[in-house]
Amino acid sequence: METIIKKITHTEEDKKIYEQAGQILRAGGLVAFPTETVYGLGADALDAKASAKIYAAKGRPSDNPLIVHIADVNALYDLAKEVPDKALVLAEKFWPGPLTMILKKKDKVPDSITGGLGTVAIRMPSHPVAAELIRSSGVYIAAPSANTSGKPSPTRAEHVINDLSGRIDMIIQDDTVDIGVESTIIDLSEEVPTILRPGYITQAMFEEAIGKTIIDPAIMGSLKEGVIPKAPGMKYKHYAPKADVTIIDSSLEAFRDYVKAHGDKDTTLMVFTDSDCEGLDMPHICYGANDEEQAKELFDVLRDLDDIGAKKVYARCPNKDGVGLAVYNRLLRAAGFQVVTL
Ligand code: AMP
Ligand code: MG
Repeated sequence: METIIKKITHTEEDKKIYEQAGQILRAGGLVAFPTETVYGLGADALDAKASAKIYAAKGRPSDNPLIVHIADVNALYDLAKEVPDKALVLAEKFWPGPLTMILKKKDKVPDSITGGLGTVAIRMPSHPVAAELIRSSGVYIAAPSANTSGKPSPTRAEHVINDLSGRIDMIIQDDTVDIGVESTIIDLSEEVPTILRPGYITQAMFEEAIGKTIIDPAIMGSLKEGVIPKAPGMKYKHYAPKADVTIIDSSLEAFRDYVKAHGDKDTTLMVFTDSDCEGLDMPHICYGANDEEQAKELFDVLRDLDDIGAKKVYARCPNKDGVGLAVYNRLLRAAGFQVVTL
């Protein structure tokens, strides 16, 4: 299949792009598009056959559900069996934006996009291209990240082109993805709201809006054997570069000492800034001086490690709270849960 690639120009010409993409979506095709978090790979959410193509294009396990993207809050009532007050409070406060809510689903939402769960994940993105695509196409768009399953999520159009060209109908290019990690997912289908995936919207922000929330323990580590995941996304290895990555959870001094003792000619360092590497004679990549920069750079840096052929990587450990928790959660999976704590 030839993939149509179109770049947003912010002129009248863009109308044609949305028209073409809308036609493809309504006909059951696949369109990749930018959002404020990462690029998404979209299909008509209520067309089970169309969304099945997403799984094939990504090589995604069929029990890993998709997020339904909407352009209007009222769509909640169309898709969810119950809309709790807390969902309305969060929608008012954080939508459009990087927040996904899990609610009990209506029958019209096909089981094929919920991994057979009785719940549906819903998000209203703020990125103007995503919002306009949903609005003008007239369909709800089911979308996971637009990468090959298992690889780092795509934060640039070139990542999508590398992973999916020839496998999907269209890619809308607009390099203004700015958060860089996927949406925060909160499960509102049970008594106490539970954060299933950390993101730019943090637990503190939720608690200010709706009171007590829980962070699912799987966020900080791997699932224990025999535990059934609440979100199938939690059970798969994710975001991983080819290199063997180890997180060094320590002070800067201890990181330097560890690297001096254990590094060799195959080692690449993944650090916050250049100055972390003073006195260390090894190639390095920087991924940002603070939580927000790290969120934005992480996936691109993980792909860069592959491009430079890195074999063994020692990574400095991000913060484990606020937006840092979102970074830590992704890096932990990229590292296959290998952490050295000093
Ligand atoms: P991504 O492929 O990165 O866009 O991720 C979509 C995420 O949403 C996956 O981690 C899914 O497990 C999660 N998700 C989608 N629908 C549900 C649901 N009904 N219940 C729990 N998690 C969900
Ligand atoms: Mg993904």
